[in-house]
Amino acid sequence: MKITVKAPAKINLALDVLHKRNDGYHEVKMVMTTIDLADHLRITLLESDRIQIESTSGIIPNDKRNLAYKAAALLKERFAIKQGCKIEISKKIPVAAGLAGGSSDCAAALRGLNELWQLGLSLDELATIGAEIGSDVAFCVYGGTAVATGRGEIVKPISSPAPAWVILAKPSIGVSTADIYEQIDVSTCFHPNVEAMIQAIETQNYKDMCHKLGNSLEDVTLKLYPKVAKIKEKMKQLGADGVLMSGSGPTVFGLTQYDTKMRRIVNGLRGFCKNVYAVRLLGKNIVE
Ligand code: ATP
Repeated sequence: MKITVKAPAKINLALDVLHKRNDGYHEVKMVMTTIDLADHLRITLLESDRIQIESTSGIIPNDKRNLAYKAAALLKERFAIKQGCKIEISKKIPVAAGLAGGSSDCAAALRGLNELWQLGLSLDELATIGAEIGSDVAFCVYGGTAVATGRGEIVKPISSPAPAWVILAKPSIGVSTADIYEQIDVSTCFHPNVEAMIQAIETQNYKDMCHKLGNSLEDVTLKLYPKVAKIKEKMKQLGADGVLMSGSGPTVFGLTQYDTKMRRIVNGLRGFCKNVYAVRLLGKNIVE
């Protein structure tokens, strides 16, 4: 018994950090959407009672620290599953990039194992379980486009944004999300207008969506890594309609609706930044 599951990356179209909570987490309000840059997980059931991880990435752990392993271990324990599994991760999403690659692998493992182990759990139930592993996992269980609140685990799906190309540029630095949250000052940081972003998406207003892009974490990362600011500037010069850092960075994305402009931006970034991708907004729910 085996299954292949797609684990798409996400970008944050808006990310507002509201305040620090008593439990140490920050209260956030974010608009997230999945993009057509994805890892694939091939999950095979094993006779033996163990969880085995293999991946094409040389830098993520293949042991119990892997978020896909955590997904399998949690389901196994909660539902007293005696059967093991092998999860082979074909890694395309850059690691520690602000694109939720690990969270999406975790969510894909939950969805895949729900099928293979015939648990019959709903997406809502899988999202609740996923939130125990990481705040972004809940969103990744559903995919598509959604508003995430709380520490990111309360997910409300919204309609798809207007279609667009997303050009991603990731400098060769990895950013720790925890470090960035540690340094943010919510009383002075930028607070994007998340409601206006939701409105722009719901009305398929591409121009407004580009104008309302905003991320409270951006200034912290930009100060620590000036290269990220340079990439932002370059993408604007090359003509992207809206440019923003995703999550805690360091990946920067730019939007355009035209193929010719997409190619011009991609070519202009080559040589300036090592990892450059051009993908479509997925918009709709990715579960397949
Ligand atoms: P987010 O946008 O949710 O903050 P991110 O894109 O910044 O996430 P990830 O790529 O998810 O970051 O990786 C964060 C950390 O998780 C890395 O240190 C990595 O070693 C670890 N990790 C564990 N499992 C995985 C996995 N399956 N894929 C990627 N990273 C993983």
